[in-house]
Amino acid sequence: MPAIAELFETMDYGPAPEAADPALAWLDARGRKTELYINGQWVAPQSGQWLETSNPATNQPLAQVAAAGPADVDAAVAAARAAFPAWSSLPGQTRARYLYAIARHIQKHSRLLAVLESLDNGKPIRETRDLDIPLVARHFYYHAGWAQLMEREFPDQQALGVVGQIIPWNFPLLMLAWKIAPALAMGNTVVLKPAKFTALSALAFAEILDEIGLPPGVVNIVTGDASQVGETLVNHPDVDKIAFTGSTDVGRSLRRATAGSGKRLSLELGGKSPFVVFDDADLDSVVEGVVDAIWFNQGQVCCAGSRLLVQENIAETLYAKLRVRMEKLRVGDSLDKAVDIGAIVGPSQLATITRLVEQGVAEGATLWQPTWACPTEGCYFPPTLFTNVAPATTIAQTEIFGPVMVAMTFRTPSEAVALANNTRYGLAASVWSDNLNLALDIARRIKAGTVWVNSTNLFDAAAGFGGYRESGFGREGGREGLYEYLRPVWETGIRHQASGVRGPGSGVSDDAVAGERPAADSDGVAAADGADQSAPPTGRSDKHKAATVHSNGSSNGHTATVNTQHSTLNTQHVAVDRTPKMYIGGKQARPDSGYSRPVHDPAGRLLGEVGEGNRKDIRNAVEAARRAEGWANTTGHARAQILYYIAENLTAREDEFAARIVAQMGGDPADAAAEVATAVSRLFTYAAWADKFDGQVHHTPLRSVTVAMPEAVGVIGIACPTAYPLLGCVSLVAPAIAMGNTVVAIPSEVHPLSATDLYQVFDTSDLPGGVVNLVTGGREPLVRVLADHDDVDAVWYCGSAAGSQIVEHASAGNMKRTWVDYGHPRAWRDPMQGEGPEFLREATQVKNIWVPYGE
Ligand code: NAD
Repeated sequence: MPAIAELFETMDYGPAPEAADPALAWLDARGRKTELYINGQWVAPQSGQWLETSNPATNQPLAQVAAAGPADVDAAVAAARAAFPAWSSLPGQTRARYLYAIARHIQKHSRLLAVLESLDNGKPIRETRDLDIPLVARHFYYHAGWAQLMEREFPDQQALGVVGQIIPWNFPLLMLAWKIAPALAMGNTVVLKPAKFTALSALAFAEILDEIGLPPGVVNIVTGDASQVGETLVNHPDVDKIAFTGSTDVGRSLRRATAGSGKRLSLELGGKSPFVVFDDADLDSVVEGVVDAIWFNQGQVCCAGSRLLVQENIAETLYAKLRVRMEKLRVGDSLDKAVDIGAIVGPSQLATITRLVEQGVAEGATLWQPTWACPTEGCYFPPTLFTNVAPATTIAQTEIFGPVMVAMTFRTPSEAVALANNTRYGLAASVWSDNLNLALDIARRIKAGTVWVNSTNLFDAAAGFGGYRESGFGREGGREGLYEYLRPVWETGIRHQASGVRGPGSGVSDDAVAGERPAADSDGVAAADGADQSAPPTGRSDKHKAATVHSNGSSNGHTATVNTQHSTLNTQHVAVDRTPKMYIGGKQARPDSGYSRPVHDPAGRLLGEVGEGNRKDIRNAVEAARRAEGWANTTGHARAQILYYIAENLTAREDEFAARIVAQMGGDPADAAAEVATAVSRLFTYAAWADKFDGQVHHTPLRSVTVAMPEAVGVIGIACPTAYPLLGCVSLVAPAIAMGNTVVAIPSEVHPLSATDLYQVFDTSDLPGGVVNLVTGGREPLVRVLADHDDVDAVWYCGSAAGSQIVEHASAGNMKRTWVDYGHPRAWRDPMQGEGPEFLREATQVKNIWVPYGE
């Protein structure tokens, strides 16, 4: 008789099927045909078309799902628009109660939802039951809390309006919850398009909305094809924002489609996330981690740890352990509680995985799969491990979105970081080491929105989730995720469309206040930058009171005195007819073209000449900015000291800068003096913020410290406003560098001399070379080069509507973040509009680092 221990070795699991009854009964009760949920009603599609959805575990049809057309989308958007005023003006507490009721009812119907999701998607019931559905409920509970707290916590913010939400098929109900919960909490109304073949759980969710009595039109669910529903929603003129989760290619097309429209956009895209294992890691835990990283949900997880990076000396040991574990994994019907891996979502995804795996073999990598065979009916693919993978090959770079792990080795921590970052994506990473100091250092150096230390695929509503680089922009979850559904109150009354609601210059358009300095824009249009609603028309009363600020904490003990009381200004001592160079890498640089452009005073007299920058100059400046990226690793304190020092040195030359402004633009010398004083004050503001705009420790319910750190975005290209040649430039450059970014700025095209004067200030203020680079010349051609440039991480643009469209469109190349004004200048002297956390949020991206604790 075999010993008990041997029995454990040989014993196998039998099937443990979960009954499909509740879901099948639900489908039968609807005649296996589902309709659209618009304005609180179930309606047949006006197109009269239906699509079939089937169970990928068996390939058997499940139901006919309505295929909406553009007219249905119009109706849904109209319903959401009509519902918006009442919904957004409800007290937060009332919205909280609705969200809370949704959460409760999700729990009540959790079995139906779990089974329906598994049937429709093919994912194991264990995962839908234990992870997807509980997390769905958690998102509604969590955001019920934010609805309750909105008035207190976001007093200067308001809802955006109608939000179009488009979600993928891999976590159908969870992605819905990630999108709908924050949108509703912040007072928005929603039109949601589920993925074509996994719409059933969204429709069951709509029934819950009916059950709890959510007001009609607040949420509308429109099923159907991407070309009919998705594209109509994206291009719809009455939608204020598109929130998208899906592939990077589609995300890129959405960036282009919405460019210049004024629609807000958040993109949660693909990934090729590294799973980094150091030689001191607990390898048995690592093996379970790998199972979770790449075989959870059949590897159809945007943040799947799909690149295994192993320290060379333990690679063979780990591979051997993995092969043993893989041999024990079970693939099968999603409703079998004993399977580890369910079905791939559908035949086309199965074909994609198969093709990429064949390509991996052809590329020379070593393939390993378990000896057992997958079920033959349905869409199945075995767990797969590739070793000997070259980092540049297709399987190492392309998101396979299937149960396929590709393994590579490294020797040193720096090599691990280099390999980890050798991808166009930046969604997530996993770092395994018993040396917490090492693990946290690696977490800091990897470019990704989420990093799990000695863990993987942990999610919670309290922790923001989202990407760096081509994994998209925007966060879902946490406090950071709420801003995706908010806009500043001062934008009230400004239409959401291309009239411009957001961006470094957006806000005030026609109502520029008399007495503010209009300036001829490069397009020949009078620019109204800096319309200062709070200032009296003469601009010469209280804002010219003397203000003295002492910065005793500055690096060299200097005292900065900001004196805004100027009765007269001597413009004589400003050098006329000089030719400042550009400023690249901390050095003055001649323009590559060898040409200069004249700068005139308002009377048309030649005031000086600046370099005519071109593509080559921008490229040089971007290289210099990239070389200076160590700036991000300096402390906030050190950056603050330098900003204070710049402020002091600017103060020392206040008269000269004011005179320069008058020389370029004419106008009231007092206004010019006020501009310089405000610029100094702004430098103080960002010096103050440099060591204070810090992160949070999120309360995730798992045993984990989850640290949300705002990090620098990287290299930011900035096209400065035309008017306010000094203040505009300082208001944008200062927050960017305060947060650790490096900058390539294009000064005011018409009045560039104030910005070029600044580099003398930088030179005397210990600012490291390359942190700020100034390239003068034509705004539109230069910013186009920045937007096209693959090594630029973000572009901020103040200028025309057409220029905004170009910047957003061109930025789709590497999915860089953009912040544009759609041709509507901001009141730069108004502190509500001209400075503050909005600028700092644009200058940072949040990385969530999960550090579990306990034995
Ligand atoms: P997909 O991009 O093909 O489709 C996503 C959604 O967009 C679907 O609803 C689809 O119908 C719709 N769509 C497609 N083309 C459209 C268009 N031109 N206009 C408007 N809508 C359009 O992605 P998928 O295959 O459903 O999902 C897999 C992808 O999603 C993977 O790349 C994965 O990494 C990504 N994903 C990302 C996250 C994240 O949070 N970052 C989460 C889950 C999935």
